[in-house]
Amino acid sequence: MSDGPAANPANGDGSIPYEPDVVTYERRGAIAVVTLNRPGYRNAQNSVMTYAIDAAFEQAVEDPEVKVIVLAGNGKHFSAGHDLGTPGRDHHVKYPNKAALWWDHIDRPGGDQRFAREMEVYLGMCRRWREIPKPTIAMVQGACIAGGLMLAWVCDLIIASDDAFFSDPVVRMGIPGVEYFAHPWVMGPRAAKEFLYTGDRFDATQAKEWGMVNRVVPRADLESETMALAEKISAMPQFGLALTKKAVNQSEDLMGMRAGMDSVFGLHHFAHAHNAEVGTDSLGGMNARTMKAQASTADAKNTDGKD
Ligand code: ZN
Repeated sequence: MSDGPAANPANGDGSIPYEPDVVTYERRGAIAVVTLNRPGYRNAQNSVMTYAIDAAFEQAVEDPEVKVIVLAGNGKHFSAGHDLGTPGRDHHVKYPNKAALWWDHIDRPGGDQRFAREMEVYLGMCRRWREIPKPTIAMVQGACIAGGLMLAWVCDLIIASDDAFFSDPVVRMGIPGVEYFAHPWVMGPRAAKEFLYTGDRFDATQAKEWGMVNRVVPRADLESETMALAEKISAMPQFGLALTKKAVNQSEDLMGMRAGMDSVFGLHHFAHAHNAEVGTDSLGGMNARTMKAQASTADAKNTDGKD
């Protein structure tokens, strides 16, 4: 990596194993490549990774030479979702809030804790990253599931390889979709309902048909095609790109995305609370293993799920 690993400001408090470089940062000319780097866990997103992604994005935003940012996943899969069960699961660890001005979730009970945490690390962080003032491209291969969708969706463009697949299976937990509820805007309401009602995995070609991804390319060409597009965009004026991004994002919000997400975040937390009230936990008794067992198509290596 030409610039060394991105800042990794928090990596546990000793209660989880130290993992070096859960996100890497590399600058290739005018393009910054931010790479999720927990391939042994299919890039499951824990909080260490969340704050490392944020630090890498900040580095790219602050570097005046960077024109375009590519978000990639190391290994066979882009991201199999939020970390539900790796040794590095760190939902109980305190990290300084970056996205929300709210109290820390640690030592808070019930919904107070859940709301504080998810507003910070899920909804808040995703919104923060969507507003990065430079074009972002998600380069997606293999699994892009639940929390993985959120990472791809906050990017401006999505280039998928022909082996990529997408799903949000959290309705199996009784929860109406992931925290960053962009579904009706990124694929249309009817497709969103099929996507959520079935929890099925949909391939890249289907995702493109719905308008959720920009291009589908052979796996072997994913990086070269993504970098070529990034290069092309990088020839445009930086401030013009920033204003254009704002123009489209503001228009999308005027189509109801931001307000819709706020309202659905309430339903999401009602579902968590209902699960906790009638059962043993806020995930409806589901975990990475049971989610995987119920996945409708075969890729037994994936740990679908989220929290
Ligand atoms: Zn949640």
